[in-house]
Amino acid sequence: MINRRQWLYGMGLMAGAGTEIGRAAVAAPEDKPKPAPLDLSQYEPKSMLQVHESHVPRAKFPVIDFHTHISVSTKSEKGVELSPDRQYLGTPQELLAVMDRKNLKTMVNLTGGYEKGLVEAVTKYDRAYPGRFLTFTEPSYSRFKEPDYPKLQGQAIEQAHRDGARGLKILKTLGLYLRENITSGPLVKIDDPRFDPMWDACGRLNMPVAIHISDPVAFFTPTDRFNERYEELNNHPDWSFYGGDFPSNAELIEARNRVFARHPKTQFVTLHFGNFSENLQNVAENLDRFPNMHVDMAARIGELGRQPFTARKFFDKYQDRILFATDATPHGDEFPQQVFNDQLYEIYYRFLETEDEYFDYAPAKIPPQGRWRIYGINLPDGILRKVYNGNAARLLRI
Ligand SMILES: [Zn+2]
Repeated sequence: MINRRQWLYGMGLMAGAGTEIGRAAVAAPEDKPKPAPLDLSQYEPKSMLQVHESHVPRAKFPVIDFHTHISVSTKSEKGVELSPDRQYLGTPQELLAVMDRKNLKTMVNLTGGYEKGLVEAVTKYDRAYPGRFLTFTEPSYSRFKEPDYPKLQGQAIEQAHRDGARGLKILKTLGLYLRENITSGPLVKIDDPRFDPMWDACGRLNMPVAIHISDPVAFFTPTDRFNERYEELNNHPDWSFYGGDFPSNAELIEARNRVFARHPKTQFVTLHFGNFSENLQNVAENLDRFPNMHVDMAARIGELGRQPFTARKFFDKYQDRILFATDATPHGDEFPQQVFNDQLYEIYYRFLETEDEYFDYAPAKIPPQGRWRIYGINLPDGILRKVYNGNAARLLRI
């Protein structure tokens, strides 16, 4: 009978066992070559976790995507769009092919512009394919310096309504880019009274306002080693609102809230989950304060899916106030979290409909908004229906 010590010795596996074979097999840790430093951009770890992976090719119920960008302005300067003319990012045919595969009934094109650009977008999409596309109008900031701008902008909303616009879109231009002299001078605040006739016109005409103010909170902090969106900001340095004369995230949200309070008859959909998906407690408090506030989930499943327990409770409590949305942009390959394609919709459906764990929130090799993965929240049918189409249909009166 040999004991364990003798057996290891015989196999040459015991440290200091004396034979050459023994030494080679148990090289001391300090003998291992040190790995070369790795550039963060080259790091693509593959998860070794083996858990169930669902594939959700079609949504369980027909979907209205409340937040897409099919057309954009042809001219902008320092973050301010200056032309009504539209540039189209995808043809109706190529969009409809994906829509039909994904059970996507309707796409809301938020950036429909104004005046002749709006008329053209409505004609090319909404009127040509009834029920499949809806277009929103936008303010004409190029007229901001005209003395009777408040009245003109109010009237422009009425005209846009006659031209077929279904709502008004406010980009983060208001609050972060528009200045007194349009592209220079002090920043114009979100609750500037010059926009009051515009908000009121939307309320009168039952046009919901899709409002984007602020951005992920990390964009308001230095782009350094502590920033959880370091790579994203490194890829898009112009997305940083740290320093300069930019207001804080909190100031932007407060200015927005004053608009909600002043225009209770106007319905506001605060895009990107109330622009504070890192703090659902704050979003909940504001939903409680303002009955005319709703949220869309565009480009924020990365945030929602990393707090699945909190998100699931939130969807339960505010199930009548949340709209399905992606921020989908045809051929927007430089922003994988919002590129319009089959994979993007499949990820959203998987998040809402399954209990899958630790999966990518964007169709990309490296998570584009931060180095983490997400978990599904497996919503029951009643909530899914409301989020996928019911809440948007009610607001859009379809
Ligand atoms: Zn958007």
